[in-house]
Amino acid sequence: MTDHETKTSRSLRPATQLVHGGTTRSQHGETSEALFLTQGFVYGSAEAAEARFNGEDPGFVYSRYANPTVAMFEDRMKMLEGAEAARATASGMAAVNLALMASVKAGDHVVAAKALFGSCRYIVETLLPRFGVESTLVDGTDLDQWKAAVKPNTAALFLESPTNPTLEVIDIAAVAEIAHSVDARLIVDNVFATPMFQSPLKLGADVVVYSATKHIDGQGRCLGGVVLSDEEWIVDEVMPFVKHTGPHMSPFNAWVLLKGLETLPLRVGRQTSSASKIADFLAQQSSVSRLIYPGRDDHPQADVVKKQMTGGSTMLAFEIEGGKDAAFRFTNALEVIKLSNNLGDAKSLITHPATTTHQSLGEEARAELDISDGLLRLSIGLEDPLDLIEDIEAALQAIS
Ligand SMILES: *Cc1c(COP(=O)(O)O)cnc(C)c1O
Repeated sequence: MTDHETKTSRSLRPATQLVHGGTTRSQHGETSEALFLTQGFVYGSAEAAEARFNGEDPGFVYSRYANPTVAMFEDRMKMLEGAEAARATASGMAAVNLALMASVKAGDHVVAAKALFGSCRYIVETLLPRFGVESTLVDGTDLDQWKAAVKPNTAALFLESPTNPTLEVIDIAAVAEIAHSVDARLIVDNVFATPMFQSPLKLGADVVVYSATKHIDGQGRCLGGVVLSDEEWIVDEVMPFVKHTGPHMSPFNAWVLLKGLETLPLRVGRQTSSASKIADFLAQQSSVSRLIYPGRDDHPQADVVKKQMTGGSTMLAFEIEGGKDAAFRFTNALEVIKLSNNLGDAKSLITHPATTTHQSLGEEARAELDISDGLLRLSIGLEDPLDLIEDIEAALQAIS
């Protein structure tokens, strides 16, 4: 826009890109990213308006199509992810829906890992079939099941890794290879890994989606999502869907999320180091019968974690002996850690998946996913880890 932009011939590292990347300054040369809270744009003449609409002038037309603040967020995410193009959406679910809808048509087939965020599973299992798109659910950690499920009409494979809530890790490079053997697109929901610890596009995935609501905001304020992929697919398939169906991100939320990106490495780094300490503490407790943490050698897919992730996780899952009753008494005894179904927040949050986020799945589907009545999912925040450990210790004592 102006001559105030960060110019350098060197390629900048992620932490620097997260502060400066994508910033376009107005004529005022403001330090912080400008918030263009506007629906539309005015044109100097009828000829200028015509040029905008026929594409001769690439400027903005309407905020359902694109907006300068949202564009800064998209550009910063693009740099971080190493993607050619990005489209920001109103929520993470809007991003997942957009990525899937832009990939399929009636008569196509989709394969997805069973262990999916509840609403993602609803789209794959219930919504897509309504529009003539058949779907198959597989155990994501079993590559033979992916291989057996793909067919000539398979258009997309979809997975998240680590998964919610049991933190299973799926071999992204191997699933990408299976997808490409039938010319299908692999879409990866990278929310739990965060952009700091896993780059699905570099592992062979075709599309990455985020709920920016989680670590990217990281302070529990606003919803957002983003779809990242190659330029051609974003321009030809994603853009028309965004333009005509309206899942675009609000400029205000883009502005909040841009500020979130500035501190993402600091927050995720701190939350992960705390989570790893808490995982080690929980592993030593006799009342904890199972602990799942992607940063530990006893994680069931520790070898895949080492291959594709550069860090552990801000999330952990564990099972308390004594089922639902003990899990409820434990969560009710916590004082610092809050009970909430959200995650990635500055505040540590605990969830009992069987009775909340995964209640509607039913007992049988929960058993299949190893979501027992004693399982708890813990999202570690920015508190002093010693206060968190003391909180957990006191709650464990209260129920023993
Ligand atoms: C939260 C979440 C979503 C949905 O994101 P929203 O911003 O709440 O719409 C999708 N996938 C995963 C893995 C999530 O954790």
